[in-house]
Amino acid sequence: MTGPAKRVVVLGSGGAGLTAAIAAHDAGAQVSVYEKHGQIGGTTAWSGGMVWIPGNPHEAGLDVEDSREKALTYLMGLSHDMIPRDMAEAFLDAGPAMIRHLEANGPVQFRPIPDFPDYHAEHPGGMPRGGRSLDCPLYPFEELGEWRDRVTRSPYYPDPRYSIFDTPLGQARPEPVAEAELERRAQQDERGSGQALIGRLLRACLDRGIEPVTSARALRLVTEDGAVRGVMVEIGGHESSIAADAVILATGGFEWDDELKRAFLRGPMTHPVSIQTNTGDGLRMAMRIGAQLGNMREAWWMPVHEVPREDVSTGVVLVAGSRALPRSIMINRKGRRFVNEAANYNAFGAAFHEHDVSAFDYANLPCWLVFDQGYIDQYGFGMMGGVPGEPPPQWVMRADGLAELAQRLGLPRGALEQTVERWNGMVAGGRDEDFARGEAAHDIWWGDPDHRGSVSATLGPLEHGPYYAIEIKSGALGTKGGPKTDRNARVLNVDGAPIDGLYAAGNVMASAMGMTYGGPGGTIAPGMVFGFVAGRHAAGDPFFVEAAA
Ligand SMILES: Cc1cc2nc3c(=O)[nH]c(=O)nc-3n(C[C@H](O)[C@H](O)[C@H](O)COP(=O)(O)OP(=O)(O)OC[C@H]3O[C@@H](n4cnc5c(N)ncnc54)[C@H](O)[C@@H]3O)c2cc1C
Repeated sequence: MTGPAKRVVVLGSGGAGLTAAIAAHDAGAQVSVYEKHGQIGGTTAWSGGMVWIPGNPHEAGLDVEDSREKALTYLMGLSHDMIPRDMAEAFLDAGPAMIRHLEANGPVQFRPIPDFPDYHAEHPGGMPRGGRSLDCPLYPFEELGEWRDRVTRSPYYPDPRYSIFDTPLGQARPEPVAEAELERRAQQDERGSGQALIGRLLRACLDRGIEPVTSARALRLVTEDGAVRGVMVEIGGHESSIAADAVILATGGFEWDDELKRAFLRGPMTHPVSIQTNTGDGLRMAMRIGAQLGNMREAWWMPVHEVPREDVSTGVVLVAGSRALPRSIMINRKGRRFVNEAANYNAFGAAFHEHDVSAFDYANLPCWLVFDQGYIDQYGFGMMGGVPGEPPPQWVMRADGLAELAQRLGLPRGALEQTVERWNGMVAGGRDEDFARGEAAHDIWWGDPDHRGSVSATLGPLEHGPYYAIEIKSGALGTKGGPKTDRNARVLNVDGAPIDGLYAAGNVMASAMGMTYGGPGGTIAPGMVFGFVAGRHAAGDPFFVEAAA
C-alpha cells in the first residue's frame, strides 16, 4: 500500500466495530471509533461470546471433518433464496483468516467448543458433532487498566466469572466451579463469554492506540460528490464534523425502533433483548444517501419471557434451553401444541408469525410454556437458573390440576387435558409424531444433559401437579437487515454500485445469513468477518481483490 494512511471512522463498538477497527489499523489506517452508549461493547458484551466460523483453524484438533464446500452446501441449503452465494462464499473465505489474524496479533484468542452441534445439523453439510463454534477463554479485566469498568455488563449473565464450559451447553457434566476458583477469578476480574470477547478486542484496540469515544452518537454521513467523506457526531450535546476517507457502520440493528420494525419486519417482534441504543441509526444514515437495502424482514429471533425488573433489569429472560427440557410443552390459545418446542430459537421465530387465515389473527400469540412439578423437582425454574425443587417465583401461574390451569389461561374446555394426554402417549412411545421433537441433534443437546444423545433428553410426560404456565413472547437478539454490501462490505447504492467510502458490518448490514442461524455463534461471526474485510478494504488493502473493470 502506498500514499498517506487512510482515515477510517468506525461507528459502534460491538464485535463488528472493534474487529473492523483492528483490521483497518493493521492494514495501515489511522482509526477512530465512536460509540453512542456510555460504555463499550454493545450487545456483543452482553452475549455468550460464541463465534461460528466454518473451517476455523481449531477444527484441526477435533475429530471432525469440515470443508469450505461442505459449509457452503449447508448455508445454501438453508438459504430459501435469501443468501447471496457470493456473500456466503466471502464469509467462508474470510472467516478463518479473521480468526488467524486476531490470534496472531494480540490478546484475542479462541478455543473450540467440542461437540456443540450446528443448529440444523441434519441438513446437508451440517455438523452434528460441532467444530465450527469457538469462544474466548476467560480474560482478566485488570489488563484493561483504566478501561476495566468501561465495558457494558450483561443483564443476562450477571456473574461474569463463568464461561460456556462451566455450563451444560459447553459440556454435558461440567465440574461445578470451586469457590476458591471463583474467588481467584473475582480477584483478577476474570470474565468469560461476551465480556471475554469484548475485553480482548478492546485490549487489542488500546494496544494499537485506538481509544473508543463513548457517549458519541453518529447522526449523519458527510458526502462529497456522492462519496462518504466524514460523519457528524454528537458528543456532549455538540455536533462535530469528523473528516474521514471511509466510514464503517457497525451500529447494530433497528430492533429498538418501533417505526422501522413496523415498516420492515415479517411479523410481530415485541421483545428485543439487545442493547437499547440499537435504534437503527446506521440504517437511517445509509438510507438517507441512497443505499440499497436487503434482508429487511429478518431478525435473529428469540422466544422470551417477561419478568419483573427487580429480577432482571431488562424485564425479560431468554427462553432457549428451558423449552427443550422434558416435562414441558408449549400451547397456543386453542390449548394445542403448535411447534417442536426444542427447535433452535431463531427458527422458532416463524411459529410466532403464523397467521390463522379464518380468524385473521396470529395463530400462536399468545402462547405458553406449560410444565409440571416433576420439571421443577428435576430442573428448577430453568429460565432463571433455578435450583431443582425450589418453587418457581410467585409470579409464575400455578394450578393444582390441568383443568384449573386451562381455565385460568382462558383455553377451550378439555383442550389442554387432551393435548397433555396425547403428548404423554407419544412420550411413552418414544416419538413426537406431531412435531418431531427430539429428532435433531440440536434438540437433544439443549435438553436434559443427563440424557444427552437420546430422545429422553427432551421427551418427558407432564403427570404431577401442580402445573405451571408462563407466557412466551416473540423477541429477538437483534435485526439483521440493512444496507446491502458487496463481499468487501462496501455499501451498495440503489443501482448496485458501491458507495465510495461507506461500509457496513454486523447487524446493521443486510446479513449474509438470510433467515438462517448456522450454529452457536452464528450472529457475532458474520459481524466480525465482514468487520474484518470492511476494515481491510477501507484501509486500502482489500481482502478480496476485484478484477479490473
Ligand atoms: C444474552 C445474549 C446472548 C447472545 N449470545 C450470542 C452468542 O453466543 N453468539 C452469537 O453469535 N450471538 C449471540 N447473541 C447475539 C449477538 O450478541 C448480537 O447479534 C451481536 O453481538 C451483534 O453485534 P454488532 O457488533 O452488530 O452489534 P452490537 O454488539 O449491538 O454493537 C452495536 C453498537 O453500536 C452502537 N451504536 C448504535 N447507534 C450508534 C450511533 N448512531 N453512533 C455510534 N454508535 C452507535 C450501539 O450502542 C452498540 O454499542 C446474543 C445476544 C444476547 C442478548
